[in-house]
Amino acid sequence: MYARLGEITSLDGSIAVTLAAHQAIGLKGILIAGTDEQKAKYLPKLASGEHIAAFCLTEPGSGSDAASIQTRATLSEDGKYFLLNGSKVWISNGGLANIFTVFARTEIVDKDGTLKDKITAFIVERDFGGVTHGKPEDKLGIRGSNTCEVHFENTKVPIENVIGEVGGGFKIAMNILNSGRFSMGSASAGMIKKLIEMTAEYACTRKQFNKKLSEFGLIQEKFSFMAVKAYVMESMAYLTAGMMDRPGFPDCSVEAAMVKVFSSEGAWTCVSEALQILGGLGYMKDYPYERYLRDTRILLIFEGTNEILRLYIALTGMQYAGKILTEKIKEIKKGNVGVALEEFLSKFQDMMGRKVDYGLVGERGVVHPSLEASGKKLEENIHYFGTSVKGLLSRFGKTIVDEQLVLKRVADIVINLYAMTAAISRASRSISIGLRNHDHEVLLTNIFCTEAYFKNNYAIAQLEKYADENLDDSIKKAAKQVLEKRTYICSHPLDRTF
Ligand SMILES: Cc1cc2nc3c(=O)[nH]c(=O)nc-3n(C[C@H](O)[C@H](O)[C@H](O)COP(=O)(O)OP(=O)(O)OC[C@H]3O[C@@H](n4cnc5c(N)ncnc54)[C@H](O)[C@@H]3O)c2cc1C
Repeated sequence: MYARLGEITSLDGSIAVTLAAHQAIGLKGILIAGTDEQKAKYLPKLASGEHIAAFCLTEPGSGSDAASIQTRATLSEDGKYFLLNGSKVWISNGGLANIFTVFARTEIVDKDGTLKDKITAFIVERDFGGVTHGKPEDKLGIRGSNTCEVHFENTKVPIENVIGEVGGGFKIAMNILNSGRFSMGSASAGMIKKLIEMTAEYACTRKQFNKKLSEFGLIQEKFSFMAVKAYVMESMAYLTAGMMDRPGFPDCSVEAAMVKVFSSEGAWTCVSEALQILGGLGYMKDYPYERYLRDTRILLIFEGTNEILRLYIALTGMQYAGKILTEKIKEIKKGNVGVALEEFLSKFQDMMGRKVDYGLVGERGVVHPSLEASGKKLEENIHYFGTSVKGLLSRFGKTIVDEQLVLKRVADIVINLYAMTAAISRASRSISIGLRNHDHEVLLTNIFCTEAYFKNNYAIAQLEKYADENLDDSIKKAAKQVLEKRTYICSHPLDRTF
């Protein structure tokens, strides 16, 4: 339901952010980690809209590195309340909210008896006193949303208002952010679908060179691009939403992060392409495209920057792969010939250019025959990516955490694999149950999977240590030379040495 709402609210970025700050992050802590009393006390008015919520994590010195916040909550001598002191920045709804989920450092006694600073989450009512806010920030986009500093000065927060355990706030913050991100897929798709309608009308009526814009291949390509992106991000968002709805609250944080990265970047490029279809008109304030462009840019920054999320996706996946690999190595060391032989044979088959078959397609496969080529591409990518990850783990070991360029490529491949999976699954279902225009879905899926397959192959090649495609050392060197001088260091094209 939240994904579906996102499709509608995203037609206006400011409304989408105002509602998401309230629903997806502002009150989410109470929903997922609050006590029954907290839920009963706060949720009804938050649900009806009588109260507005905000999520207060970011501080001037603490953005992506959320664990470094300095806002402090000190327990009173009678142990009945905390005194909250500190400042938060860029808080969406900060000037409107009555209820804040605030993260602050608290002193706790660790298991070994030592005093430690840990983060705790609190429900703070504006009426507790000592809560002030700055003036609304003057922003590039989502200018209709309220973003401002929020200050807490000796705000008395009753101990009943701690969310979860004292000291357990960091995990709660991450869980809140993780659980909301998936909806960026349906929200971005909703916006792109609207853009397609608006620009298609223009392209089919505006004439240049005695032809409609829609007759030019380079304009047609933009419509195909937008349709593919919308289809894939929608597929990813609803696949993830479906998994999250399963009993037992499965951890879908990696999937949600993949949806967020894919759809935020897709939305940004699609809006730019939509604007391009209108040419100069798209650049004018009388039309909504420049606003869409400005509004969309934030998607790559908040709810976890795409850089941090790529690292998260890659490292979480590698950690899992590492465990499996360690088990295999243990078995081999113990003299398990079967495992050793299996590994050797697998490498040998890869060298001989094996035909990968995981059974996705074919008689007992779940992929519809019209998507066979895409299914095969997905299988092949998955297989060689697996081999590549094994190679990376044995090459870098634990130091993989510092190899950001490698991790970025790993994340990009995984995101593509998830996107291919989502699109193939959806198109297979659509064709199997005979949904309207299912052949169009198959077409979009095949376009996406073919492009993603070649991109993945290129990225897998870049992960090889000695491959020509691997430019990581040169990239790092060029960046170092620029950053050392803190400027562009090439001579001007008109400079002379004589
Ligand atoms: C309009 C708006 C609304 C917001 N709403 C809220 C809100 O409601 N509540 C809230 O708590 N916060 C909110 N934020 C804050 C937002 O979540 C942060 O801006 C975001 O987390 C990034 O932090 P930062 O801006 O300090 O960037 P930094 O953390 O300083 O990062 C700067 C750049 O460096 C990159 N970077 C940082 N660390 C690494 C690393 N280890 N490896 C590689 N690259 C790295 C980042 O990806 C980024 O590109 C909002 C921000 C904006 C602009």
